[in-house]
Amino acid sequence: MIETAFALRPTPTVPVEGGLPFPVRRILCVGRNYAAHRREMGGDDRDPPFFFAKPADAIVPPGQDVAYPSATADLHHEIELVVAIGPGGKVFGYAVGVDLTRRDLQNAAKAKGQPWDASKGFDQSAPISAIVRVEAVPGEAAISLSVNGVVRQQASIGDMLWSVPEILVQAARLWALEAGDLIYTGTPEGVGPLVPGDLVEGQIAGIGALSFRIV
Ligand code: MN
Repeated sequence: MIETAFALRPTPTVPVEGGLPFPVRRILCVGRNYAAHRREMGGDDRDPPFFFAKPADAIVPPGQDVAYPSATADLHHEIELVVAIGPGGKVFGYAVGVDLTRRDLQNAAKAKGQPWDASKGFDQSAPISAIVRVEAVPGEAAISLSVNGVVRQQASIGDMLWSVPEILVQAARLWALEAGDLIYTGTPEGVGPLVPGDLVEGQIAGIGALSFRIV
């Protein structure tokens, strides 16, 4: 180990059901991977999905509240299947995640052709459930999110434009996937605003569930 001027925070980790915690290297995210969400965002039906990223320390482990972020008046929820990459770049397991978004900043960035870091990659922008070590997700697993008990998003992961194997192929064209990488695979329609006090609950059949409160 090289001696450094100061110590960094420990590597962020995600609990693994029945195993040791998963250390997070980086977070990749897929945009516009469900046709109905692409339409609600005003996207062109011919635009393929694409990638953006969040820093590893944007992870919010299960059981932690999320502080309403600074510099936004339009925080949005996006429920997503998360693929966890293990040694050899192989799938390690799956989790349920929420891609929190400063929608007002994202809309302003889109209008000016600016990057999405401030709208997507902010502190505590990536809540996640525990990781389950299943080989594959059921093809038509139900994915849903509710706020204060009211369902906002409800779809099937079978609606994804890029399936998990296709996402891995597309990502591998751009990066060498390594152990510790997490890929948020995109959200279905029904995204909407959150305010302090809201209880967010998300689930994917056969994978798990997460819940957190905005404080
Ligand atoms: Mn998303």
